[in-house]
Amino acid sequence: MILEARGVSKNFGRLAALVQVSFSVEEGEIFGIVGPNGAGKSTLFNCITGLYRPTAGRIFFAGSEITGLSPDQVCRRGIARTFQIPATFHSLSIYDNIRVGALFGAGRTDHVDEVLDFLGLAPQARSPARNLDLYSTKLVMLGAALATNCRLLMLDEPMAGFSLVEIQRFLELLRRINQERGITVIIIEHLLDVLAGIAHRMMVLHDGHVLCIGKPAEVTCDSRVAEVYLGHKAEARDA
Ligand code: ADP
Ligand code: MG
Repeated sequence: MILEARGVSKNFGRLAALVQVSFSVEEGEIFGIVGPNGAGKSTLFNCITGLYRPTAGRIFFAGSEITGLSPDQVCRRGIARTFQIPATFHSLSIYDNIRVGALFGAGRTDHVDEVLDFLGLAPQARSPARNLDLYSTKLVMLGAALATNCRLLMLDEPMAGFSLVEIQRFLELLRRINQERGITVIIIEHLLDVLAGIAHRMMVLHDGHVLCIGKPAEVTCDSRVAEVYLGHKAEARDA
């Protein structure tokens, strides 16, 4: 087990964004988190990575407790994350964006070229990060996260806004990150089918609660999950 959340709750005033969330992730897994908008997925990432302090509960990584540590401390322990909203340092080159990740997490930069090669970004490395298309911007964010030399990579809806072709390319890259680099991955995605195709196990969050955890085949057949997702689709049709 590389990550464990025990009874993590997060309140914003009277709103309970997370209620007693418990789960664990094994080393080497691709662990998916799905759930409708507002389910608490990003809040869970923020609690794990030190942006928010949980109202209750404890979080363990690689055998030690990380509850309440600051984002940089969490990163140095070996957890990197990307954000739901695409953001790079626009005035910096692609190379320097990835160098920032390397300095922040690893404290050294001798592996920046290798990360650029791995992502296929080496030919454009000296270009500014501004004016990149969405896919390349997401690759730069991913590169900065990988350059921290993380053991656990947490991706918050990395494929939002991608075309079907881009989704396939990104999923293939994730498989390589997991298999060739040996990195454990937690990925948030609101499309159940996309996640079921890549995750070893997945967790469904709904209204801050864990609805179920299991292998993709178990989760996609769960009647509670169908209810949440069919209910959600029906709402979208009416809108
Ligand atoms: P998801 O990522 O699953 O779409 P979020 O974790 O972003 O959901 O949000 C869960 C709930 O918590 C929502 O109701 C959201 O409005 C609320 N929330 C998230 N962050 C904050 C915050 N910083 N302050 C107040 N409410 C928040
Ligand atoms: Mg979110």
